Amino acid sequence: MQITSQQHLFASKRSWIQHHKWLLLRRISQLSIFCLFMSGPWFDLWIIKGNLSSSLTLDTLPLSDPFIVTQSLFAGQLLTSVTLTGALIVTLFYIFAGGRVYCSWLCPVNIATDASSWLRKKFRIKSSSLFARNTRYWLLFTAFVMAMITGTLSWELINPVTLVQRGLISGLWISAAIMFAIFLFDLFISRNAWCGHLCPVGAFYSLLGRLGFIRVSAHNRANCNDCMDCFAVCPEEQVIKPALRGTDQLISPVILDINCTNCGRCIDVCNKSVFKFTHRFNHNTYVNKPLNQEPSQ
Ligand code: SF4
Ligand code: SF4
Repeated sequence: MQITSQQHLFASKRSWIQHHKWLLLRRISQLSIFCLFMSGPWFDLWIIKGNLSSSLTLDTLPLSDPFIVTQSLFAGQLLTSVTLTGALIVTLFYIFAGGRVYCSWLCPVNIATDASSWLRKKFRIKSSSLFARNTRYWLLFTAFVMAMITGTLSWELINPVTLVQRGLISGLWISAAIMFAIFLFDLFISRNAWCGHLCPVGAFYSLLGRLGFIRVSAHNRANCNDCMDCFAVCPEEQVIKPALRGTDQLISPVILDINCTNCGRCIDVCNKSVFKFTHRFNHNTYVNKPLNQEPSQ
């Protein structure tokens, strides 16, 4: 008989909060960032001016989205030193925290895609993607080529992520419509169809986080009992296997794949405390017994 994650939760001594700690922290992060941007228009409290593409915090700290700045450079636009400084600060942050932290801790679209992923599991919707996972890198390349040919940020006119972010802050219904479209797309086309296969913003941040310092490690992989809960919940499940199934000390337990979003859900759901946040150079494991079984698909 197959044991569900819900049954694992009841069998475990950990509370619901402990099982959802990183998920809750991510939702708090996403909502706090939204509230910080909205405190100006709503309450005339201008902590941050602008949006996720370009902002000024406390009239002092410039932050610019390096994806948009890179498109501007491809478009041959002249950028101010403030914009370039803002992009450098953000880039250094993601090199430290992991590039796709943008996806799991900031991007509002992630709330819609997590919801469809949850519903797919609940209703056992099995459709699979028509797109290869590297399609997002081709779309990223296309965005840069479009900028070069047109001399403008033409991709940004149709970029769903930018449209959602700007729409949320300016209260436009287009935001809700695009989020709902991505939600339906993920629900019926394939699990993580948008973020895991198509989104060039996520692809850009994956590349940016290639040297990401903060990483998840399957440091206690000898304790794994093959329940598969982590594979079921991970938005990029292909990243787990190399670290979890390492059969000797030479194979690092650290998840170094650039597509890991540092969302922490594998840490949340694992009743055997296999995973933890650490840094990319911590290759230590607990007693490292061989784990030869292949995960069932
Ligand atoms: S992949 Fe794109 S839409 Fe998904 S969370 Fe990342 S930036 Fe947002
Ligand atoms: S490996 Fe863990 S932290 Fe990385 S994306 Fe998957 S669930 Fe999130």
